[in-house]
Amino acid sequence: MDFALSEEQRMFRDMFRNFAAKEVAPRAEEIDHAESLPKELLRKMVDQGFLGATIPEDYAGAALDNVSYVLLLENLATACASIAVTVATHVSLVAMSILESGTDAQKEEWLPAMATGEAIGAFALSEPDAGSDMLALETRARYEGDEVVLDGVKTWVTNGELAGLFLVFAQGPQGVDAYLVPRDAPGLTVGYREPTLGLRSAYFNTVYLEGCRVPQSYRLSGPGAGAAIAGRAVDRMAVALAAVGLGLAESSVDVAAQYSTARVQFGVPIGKKQAIQNYIADAYVETEALRYLVYRTAWLIDQGEDFSVDASVVKAFGARTARSVTNRMLQVLGGYGFMEDYPMARKYRDARVLGIIGGPTEVHAFRVARHVLAQKDLEIVPRHQ
Ligand SMILES: Cc1cc2nc3c(=O)[nH]c(=O)nc-3n(C[C@H](O)[C@H](O)[C@H](O)COP(=O)(O)OP(=O)(O)OC[C@H]3O[C@@H](n4cnc5c(N)ncnc54)[C@H](O)[C@@H]3O)c2cc1C
Repeated sequence: MDFALSEEQRMFRDMFRNFAAKEVAPRAEEIDHAESLPKELLRKMVDQGFLGATIPEDYAGAALDNVSYVLLLENLATACASIAVTVATHVSLVAMSILESGTDAQKEEWLPAMATGEAIGAFALSEPDAGSDMLALETRARYEGDEVVLDGVKTWVTNGELAGLFLVFAQGPQGVDAYLVPRDAPGLTVGYREPTLGLRSAYFNTVYLEGCRVPQSYRLSGPGAGAAIAGRAVDRMAVALAAVGLGLAESSVDVAAQYSTARVQFGVPIGKKQAIQNYIADAYVETEALRYLVYRTAWLIDQGEDFSVDASVVKAFGARTARSVTNRMLQVLGGYGFMEDYPMARKYRDARVLGIIGGPTEVHAFRVARHVLAQKDLEIVPRHQ
């Protein structure tokens, strides 16, 4: 059992940490208040290879292993969770689905464009009536000759406004299909951007498909393969979002620890008080437990192991840890924790969504419970409630 990062992984971690501290952290409040991701910051991330993180070198990517990739997301999230979620959506949900299930032609067309930031990826699965029940899709795929016609509405599409490529899921004649739909496809419209509690510099849009036509060759894998593609993408995203939670938790501990040495009440820094030390110690313990769960799950992916249950475990723990740690660290800052000009308020707001996005905690808990029961040869009866 080896818990150490390799020399290369440590080098990447330092590079990501440096980038986040120098290029992102100083602007994180401004970006959050402006509710936009500056193009030139996106360009800098492209130049660093972040958008091609786990895309192979043959397709102009950085060919990172999954441990290095979660180090990237963790470190970006220490400075700005919106940016980390933007990258995670592009890489984990879209690029890796193409790499895993695309034809050679699809990979050659899209992966270099994604790695170089020419095409940002967005994942259009959820619908007004298909959330946790993610395959209850009303969007329809109708085949007409060599073309497919898509009709439906997709909600909360992360990166919607930025995207050049949408991975769209629709009910086809043989089950759920997945389609690579370029932004300029006739009949695709990027609509309303949702204002949100957190992740304010990321983009969440409604996407309309009205008689949207693409060639059938734009389908990812065979007819009816969409459910499996979506399931694997959600598993990868669960690990990515846990890494975002880790970044939020560890940076909150840093902020609170520093504050506790500077803030003087009753004649001493508040960090001298045992109550405050307990808050910080507990938060640190939880954060470190999350760290090793995140790295281990990423390592499992690198080993080619099945990680679907581990993805739910780490996602549920990541969401809970990020929420409880940011909550207590905000308490350490007292009134300043509640002020929008300090980073704690933003971290607290951003952490809240991790229990919802990428499948809510309750659904991941259900998957874990099913696994626990199956291990003991127990079954939930009746099966479908
Ligand atoms: C910021 C943000 C970004 C998002 N980005 C994307 C994206 O890029 N692409 C995309 O396709 N989707 C995206 N989503 C959608 C997201 O995946 C869904 O919000 C999520 O799957 C939950 O669906 P819902 O919000 O409809 O909640 P619902 O399914 O309506 O659930 C409501 C509540 O009921 C609980 N619940 C539901 N079913 C069960 C059950 N069987 N047992 C116990 N409890 C249950 C849930 O856990 C939750 O607490 C995003 C959402 C957000 C908030």
